[in-house]
Amino acid sequence: MIDLRREASDILSDLEALRAGDAPTHGGRVLSYVYDSGVPELDDLAAAAARLVQPVNGLDPTTFTSVAALEAGVVGFARTVFGGDDDVVGSVTSGGTESCLLAVKSARDAWRSARLGTPRVPRIVAPVTVHAAFHKAAHYLGLELDLVPVDPATGAPAVAAIAERLGDDVALVVVSAPSYPFASLDPVADVAAITAVRGIALHVDACIGGFALAFWPDRLPAWDFSVPGVMSLSADLHKYGYAPKGVSVLLTRGRDRQRHQYFATTAWPGYPVVNPTMTGSKPAGPLAAAWAIIEALGEPGFAELTGRAARATTALRSCVEHIEGLRVIGAPAGPLFAVATDDSVPVERRVDPHHWADAARASGWHLQLQPGLVQADGGRLPHTTHLTVTPVTEAVLPELTAALDDAAERVRGVPPVDGSAVAAGLAAALPGGAGALEAAAAVGGGLDSDNAAALLRAAGLLGDAGAPDGGALPAQLAPVLALVEALPGALTERLLIELLARVVEPQSSIE
Ligand SMILES: *Cc1c(COP(=O)(O)O)cnc(C)c1O
Repeated sequence: MIDLRREASDILSDLEALRAGDAPTHGGRVLSYVYDSGVPELDDLAAAAARLVQPVNGLDPTTFTSVAALEAGVVGFARTVFGGDDDVVGSVTSGGTESCLLAVKSARDAWRSARLGTPRVPRIVAPVTVHAAFHKAAHYLGLELDLVPVDPATGAPAVAAIAERLGDDVALVVVSAPSYPFASLDPVADVAAITAVRGIALHVDACIGGFALAFWPDRLPAWDFSVPGVMSLSADLHKYGYAPKGVSVLLTRGRDRQRHQYFATTAWPGYPVVNPTMTGSKPAGPLAAAWAIIEALGEPGFAELTGRAARATTALRSCVEHIEGLRVIGAPAGPLFAVATDDSVPVERRVDPHHWADAARASGWHLQLQPGLVQADGGRLPHTTHLTVTPVTEAVLPELTAALDDAAERVRGVPPVDGSAVAAGLAAALPGGAGALEAAAAVGGGLDSDNAAALLRAAGLLGDAGAPDGGALPAQLAPVLALVEALPGALTERLLIELLARVVEPQSSIE
């Protein structure tokens, strides 16, 4: 035995108190980040499965053979539902970002191995709506990311625009099924037709929608391994697989190609290292939870839950389409969509999507604000509000649609926040005035930590004393997003890094 400093029950009640401050993870009130099946038994099963494998190290499936069996089962299920044949193999990863990073690593190493000794930097070609995980992959893995503009009205890329970018230095083309920002189901088959003839690999990022699209009630254009040129596909089990966070799959066509995903070394005096994924030691809990959920639901269970999310999505889209002054972007596929201002109605009837989201948040519904973006061709993508719809949403539709209607009534005619005015207000609050903001913008990413924190305090985003209440966001997010759009990207990114770093400043409460 060991003397414990505190009672376990006290520690857990502290944790419960902390959890009480979180946005609600269940009940459909948060329309992003969390994917509530609405079936508590699934959560209980997932927790029990994760608990059973808690002590296991997923690093070595030859020592902990349960890990190999679970992974083979999960990958097998994914291969079946995504139309893969015997040539498709895969791995379970810690999440969508890791699946995307590894897809890029495999593509880069396959590209290099066919061009031994080349000093060229390979490119990734993708629509500008591709998930930020590919920006991260390009950054971490030393590739260039070549972003293809999309149609601002629909959020969809043109195949011809992708075709124009193809060349021998392209290691990977990425399309989404569907894209996160606008839920555009990219033209997978048309893009595959042009990549396949040139021998360029195509990845389908189905991280968000894959496990819902595979069971979608309406007919969709082919987007998975049933399309011959699709070489890899990522899909997150911690989204529409309803598993706890930390589990995704990356499937690859061709065993030889997939082996590029691995890292192995015997060049040190310790155990031989062979890693299919980025981590070394890793938990088996999320994998076991995902496996248990798959065992419990099977394809019929997935189809049933997807049906609920699909019906709720249809109802919510129709609700938004009936709100004067708002419009749904493009032709979204799957259980998500984005909402913009309808510029076809008179100014005083328009609804700004960010004010709308703030008004909905005031009544306890969390929608996700997305900034506008100027594309490389000058085309402006509007700022929008994103809704991810889960099976549980169907159970709360009456309250949610009433809240969305009501939020629109409250902000109709209120003009969007003027980002340059917010920036000017920020400049005025700085000790050095406008000059200080200009100086900060000039150094952008080079801003030091204390100056970045001072800017955040002036913007009202960070408390005075060191860290804490930096964690609590202001009630109105529209001005924050307007600032994100108005300031130079390098400065905004540096400020956001500071904000997130200050939120976790070390606390010395434990003696
Ligand atoms: C969520 C998502 C990712 C990244 O996944 P994480 O699990 O958050 O790391 C990648 N692509 C798309 C389309 C996504 O929606």
